[in-house]
Amino acid sequence: MLIDSFNRKIDYLRLSVTDRCNLRCTYCMPSGGIKLIDRKEMLTFEEILKAAGILSETGIRKIRITGGEPLVRDGIIDLIKQIKKIEKITDISITTNGILLNEYLDELYKMPVKGINISLDTLDRQKYKEITRGGEINQVLSAISNSINIGIKSVKINVVITNLLDEKDIAGFAEMTLDKPVHVRFIEMMQPAGGDGSSETIECSSTGVISNLEFNNLKPVSSSQDFNPVDTIFSVMKKMGGYHAVNDKIGNGPALYYKFKQARGSIGFIINDKQYCSYCNRIRLTPYGTIRFCLFSDEEYDIKKKIRDNYCPADIKAEIAEFVKAKPENREDSCRYDNKGKSPINFKLKDFMNRIGG
Ligand code: SAM
Ligand code: SF4
Repeated sequence: MLIDSFNRKIDYLRLSVTDRCNLRCTYCMPSGGIKLIDRKEMLTFEEILKAAGILSETGIRKIRITGGEPLVRDGIIDLIKQIKKIEKITDISITTNGILLNEYLDELYKMPVKGINISLDTLDRQKYKEITRGGEINQVLSAISNSINIGIKSVKINVVITNLLDEKDIAGFAEMTLDKPVHVRFIEMMQPAGGDGSSETIECSSTGVISNLEFNNLKPVSSSQDFNPVDTIFSVMKKMGGYHAVNDKIGNGPALYYKFKQARGSIGFIINDKQYCSYCNRIRLTPYGTIRFCLFSDEEYDIKKKIRDNYCPADIKAEIAEFVKAKPENREDSCRYDNKGKSPINFKLKDFMNRIGG
């Protein structure tokens, strides 16, 4: 079992299979484009399987496939099928932007994957194009419906809160939860390192707002901003006729969930606050073959090098157990961890999300 120095049990891996993507979301990628990882530096499928096998021996049980956009990597379905065969892996799920999902849905359902998280930040076609720099929303909406209809066990919609999110979007997302077994999660936007703040970057209107919510206790917060997304979400929910907090755990992350009476789905918030770090059970594997223990730290363990140098798996396992011990208590400590002078208060990500996988 993988246990860190703060007694957190680490059993969940976010596996980013590529930095490539068919969209260019403004909060995820810089306006000038990204420098792609050299193909020689990317883990091959064989190496990913070796890494996942070793990690399963350390105590990893659940894997979420992410990216970049995981479905743009050739052969991804075969890779997921192989990962599913690793004996100790009990759950496998995927996070996707949904653009290519219809093509792969049958196979994902048959495997089966435990869940599909689909990213969608607005219900408006034009705004979607703007946020994703060109995406076609109808492909995503149909993939969401098809995922539910085909019977994927857990379908979640990830909504990053941008300043383009408005009441109409919120009401639309909330309505989806009434008759569909879908979990909509509003996610506080995080600022990537090197985020250029240019006019093309949609500004985060919510930082510090969601984090004021009390855990498991519904509490809208006041804000001096003209539009407070969390207040607006709650006021839309109130207008729709009452909701209650859900105490059951839905998923692995630090999300708070609420439900309308008799609704089939739920509405959640993913909170960017250090107090939730005490629930963190995850590590990440990057497409270029390093393990990271926190989104806000750039400390890495180079498992690719060890695999390419034919290190003994038992030694790699022992080194990973040692590496994980250095997982900081919370994101604030992560920001201080490498001591590179970045302000911990801004909680800036140390890299762009398309590399580390969200
Ligand atoms: N391409 C896939 C997708 O968009 O779902 C998977 C990778 S994406 C990096 C994983 C998740 O990270 C998405 O839900 C995305 O919305 C979220 N994300 C990306 N950049 C973010 C940021 N700056 N702040 C908060 N969430 C972000
Ligand atoms: Fe691509 Fe996902 Fe990043 Fe959007 S959030 S650019 S879809 S990796």
